[in-house]
Amino acid sequence: RAVYENRGGFGLVNSGGKIPLGLKRKGLRIVVTGGAGFVGSHLVDRLINRGDSVIVVDNFFTGRKENVMHHFGNPRFELIRHDVVEPLLLEVDQIYHLACPASPVHYKFNPTNVVGTLNMLGLAKRVGARFLLTSTSEVYGDPLQHPQVETYWGNVNPIGVRSCYDEGKRTAETLTMDYHRGAGVEVRIARIFNTYGPRMCIDDGRVVSNFVAQALRKEPLTVYGDGKQTRSFQYVSDLVEGLMRLMEGEHVGPFNLGNPGEFTMMELAQVVQETIDSNAKIEFRPNTEDDPHKRKPDISKAKELLGWEPQIPLRKGLPLMVSDFRQRIFGDHKEGSS
Ligand code: NAD
Ligand code: UDP
Ligand code: UDP
Repeated sequence: RAVYENRGGFGLVNSGGKIPLGLKRKGLRIVVTGGAGFVGSHLVDRLINRGDSVIVVDNFFTGRKENVMHHFGNPRFELIRHDVVEPLLLEVDQIYHLACPASPVHYKFNPTNVVGTLNMLGLAKRVGARFLLTSTSEVYGDPLQHPQVETYWGNVNPIGVRSCYDEGKRTAETLTMDYHRGAGVEVRIARIFNTYGPRMCIDDGRVVSNFVAQALRKEPLTVYGDGKQTRSFQYVSDLVEGLMRLMEGEHVGPFNLGNPGEFTMMELAQVVQETIDSNAKIEFRPNTEDDPHKRKPDISKAKELLGWEPQIPLRKGLPLMVSDFRQRIFGDHKEGSS
């Protein structure tokens, strides 16, 4: 769907590699909602480097201007402070819809997933843009099937403390498919599994950011419950590659985007000890209600149809976020360095 112009002669290809010889990819106009956040800002970097024009729409609920400040002054970059719960008029080719209060601490009672998604779908419909929803592995709830395949419908408690996020994203998927079937909007759905990396929110309560920050601050690592619950952790650049392949490809999805490497929280704590501070202590805390016992993506579908699979295992990815966290926690002063 990308727009191409004939430059004649040499075959210049974009990342998809599907452009006929002699055609050069023309820059697209792309909205990234939540683009000042963790995942969004890495996506914006890739899109800008590819030559596209990017409009970031963010209300800075959990996102930070610092994540995208390096693009200020670039004529192909715009930043709009806006809450997607309110309507928005823009003329664009693609919409990456990431805006969402992404952590348990923030997502309760927030209508972004439903109302924000509806508005962005309305925008996509009006201007004929392609729309990509970043859904989540949480749509599988506390899964009764392991690993989780896209065809699994999930096991979600509709009235639990986490349900605003789970059910919000499930509703967002429903709206996305309704706009696709009913209004012919071109849509893509990604179900993202736990992702980590530089620029992750330091204090939003996610396990990787908690452990890394705790180890750097010489505080005990807080393991919730018995620490035997599992998650699969994906490095952010792998996710961004998957999102871009999904947007540019022909398949609606949903696609699981995650790293199948599965770790218990105790194992994760151990990797953090190995990476940052072998003397870091572990402290057990009560777990949150309805915490999924295990989670691991089956990524066969993304492998086959998007030609995608993660490249960076946890032990390689974790060190890549440590210097960013160290810098943000301690500033330039290397207090607590190991
Ligand atoms: P993040 O909190 O860093 O980014 C979300 C961004 O959305 C922030 O910049 C925030 O300010 C913005 N935002 C929130 N509500 C908004 C609103 N109403 N209007 C405009 N902007 C708003 O989180 P992230 O980890 O980068 O997550 C990005 C997307 O990926 C989210 O949709 C999230 O649900 C999804 N996801 C992430 C993970 C993960 O492990 N990081 C896992 C599954 C799904
Ligand atoms: N919308 C928006 N920007 C647009 C077009 C629509 O924010 O460019 C919002 C609009 O305000 C509405 C939602 O998207 O709340 C759904 O729009 P749609 O046209 O599908 O529904 P309708 O307005 O007909 O109910
Ligand atoms: N968790 C933990 N210690 C923490 C934060 C989280 O043991 O300091 C656990 C949490 O109970 C859950 C897992 O780590 O079992 C992943 O939590 P997170 O909030 O990062 O992601 P999600 O539950 O959304 O997958």
